[in-house]
Amino acid sequence: MTSVALSKISKTYRSGEKAVLDSIDLDIAPGELFFLLGPSGCGKSTLLRIIAGLIKPSEGKIKFDNDDVTGLPTEKRHTAMVFQNYALWPHMTVLENVKFGLSIRGKNEKEAEKQASDSLSMVEMQDFARRKPSELSGGQQQRVALARAIAVRPKVLLLDEPLSNLDAKLRIAMRREIRRICKESGLTTVYVTHDQKEALAMADRMAVLHEGRLCQAGSPHEIYRRPNSVFVAGFIGEGNFIPAKIAETRDGSAVAETQLGAIAAGVPPSAKFAKGDPCTLLIRPESMLVSREKRENSFPAKIAGGVFLGEFTQWTFDAGERTIIVFEQNAPTRREGEEFFLCASPENIVALPQVF
Ligand code: ADP
Repeated sequence: MTSVALSKISKTYRSGEKAVLDSIDLDIAPGELFFLLGPSGCGKSTLLRIIAGLIKPSEGKIKFDNDDVTGLPTEKRHTAMVFQNYALWPHMTVLENVKFGLSIRGKNEKEAEKQASDSLSMVEMQDFARRKPSELSGGQQQRVALARAIAVRPKVLLLDEPLSNLDAKLRIAMRREIRRICKESGLTTVYVTHDQKEALAMADRMAVLHEGRLCQAGSPHEIYRRPNSVFVAGFIGEGNFIPAKIAETRDGSAVAETQLGAIAAGVPPSAKFAKGDPCTLLIRPESMLVSREKRENSFPAKIAGGVFLGEFTQWTFDAGERTIIVFEQNAPTRREGEEFFLCASPENIVALPQVF
């Protein structure tokens, strides 16, 4: 298993233009399923191609384990890439597609056949070995593309939006499958997506990029529960954002003054707040309790509307001048105009710095 270390990777496509990637530092552990996540145009694919050796960085270093591979061409890096459109050869059978990469790497016929068959078994496509790609569904073609990449036993597996051509249901089913395959094969995998749910569901760790800069890297849990900026908090999941001013700081937490009263919140490790600093409080819609009584860390709010969405009800509350969204499971009937207190424990609120 191979580690990947990126240090100070920058990329400018044309001189004089704004950098597409700006001094990215990332460490990816051996065997990790690591996601690059961010809105379209943030530089994810460029970074993936730089790891593959398909694009040269303008600055910075890439190491696989202790080897500096920055100057190595793609064929000497031992990476394998799976593209959005699968890129299977239409005139070859499934088995030939998977075997091809092994044959050109000098494997003898018998070895190549065995390794290709093993890879097809891993993606559960062994029964389709004699078919042509046109005789397969989108999901099956995706599995074959994955088998072809795994078969060459790369040091690093690179996946570029591999599920984006599948319909919504299959995409969700394939999340577990791809994770299983990556984990069983033990390969260090870098996976690009703009779909935050896909990243949350599948990643060991992920990096959120915005306009070529690395905003935050961490486990899905850390990124969702302890985002370090308003951008990350807004990109991953839904949130209520309340303008505030720091009234008191403690170790890892703070009390902030808001129009709704004083609210105690957690503070991300990267934020350095002083008394009087402006901040934004993040409260996730599912982390609030709707209560008739005033409780600790609560504020008054009035129901403005509600939509029953099956697994939960989405309430809209008016709180002062703000609209607060609350997701409530097994919600009782509540009427528009009814007054409540919305309560969240400080661990479920994050004070975010104003500037990134
Ligand atoms: P993402 O994968 O996050 O959508 P990309 O890495 O594809 O982002 O692109 C990042 C930025 O770099 C975009 O503004 C895009 O237009 C630009 N870009 C990508 N490839 C090239 C290229 N070959 N030449 C010039 N600009 C490019």
